[in-house]
Amino acid sequence: MATYPQNNRTWQILNAAEKGGYAVPAFNCYNADGILGSIRAAEKMNSPAMIEIFPFSIHFHGKSFIEFAANACHAAKVPISFHLDHCTVKTDVFLALELPFDSIMVDASSEDPEENVTFVKHIAELAEARGITIEAEMGRIQGGEDGVPAVEMEALYTEPEFAAEFMRRTGVHYLAPSFGNVHGPYPPGGPEKFWQIDRLEQIKAHSPGTILVLHGAYPIIPDLFQRVITLGVRKVNLNKNLHDAYLNYLGKNIGKVEMTGLQEGSIAVWEEEACKMIKLLGSDNKA
Ligand SMILES: [Zn+2]
Repeated sequence: MATYPQNNRTWQILNAAEKGGYAVPAFNCYNADGILGSIRAAEKMNSPAMIEIFPFSIHFHGKSFIEFAANACHAAKVPISFHLDHCTVKTDVFLALELPFDSIMVDASSEDPEENVTFVKHIAELAEARGITIEAEMGRIQGGEDGVPAVEMEALYTEPEFAAEFMRRTGVHYLAPSFGNVHGPYPPGGPEKFWQIDRLEQIKAHSPGTILVLHGAYPIIPDLFQRVITLGVRKVNLNKNLHDAYLNYLGKNIGKVEMTGLQEGSIAVWEEEACKMIKLLGSDNKA
């Protein structure tokens, strides 16, 4: 029987991606529409996937919604894990450890680096006892997105040597590096201008086998994405990429279509966008 972390769903999905050389989409969802649309897309494309929510949903939607989301992910015909993104508040991390998440991102990147190591290591130990795996940010990714407090401080780029040491000392499973990626829309010039591909290459070289996570994937630049996937990015967080199309559909159809039709239509739009992302990341037919 597989033992921890091999028995963890997120670990299985991302390690299969590491072996296969592709990336898996992690769909940021704020409601049941996103969850259903993401699951349908993954099943249609025969793709593994991740569905992630922010701590906002723990507080706003409550425990029964979290259980619904986890059950929906786990009942899918393809492997889908349920993840908590950007847990910045310590009490939220402790709350999340008691909920049915497969994995949690601990974002303690605004702390003093040494405190960050101590805290993340402690959480990784608690998570192991619950069969949950941990993603951590090292350095500081700039910007903000709906559900994540905006970082006003200057970005702190991940230092490849420190990242390797951080991974070793904390025992976390996945690393979200800061290499010029930005949450939310990029300033003029976009990812092409800001991503330090050399830095990402060095991070991977210093931490071989480490699963890298990409935050700040809006907008998508296909060539650049292929490039970072070849460098070891295995999880790509997708938020506005899907919400743009979904909200646009709702905006145009609200008041004109009945609720049932509105849900069918908006989830279909989400599903279509999600399928495009799956194709782009290369996770189609990898379930
Ligand atoms: Zn993020």
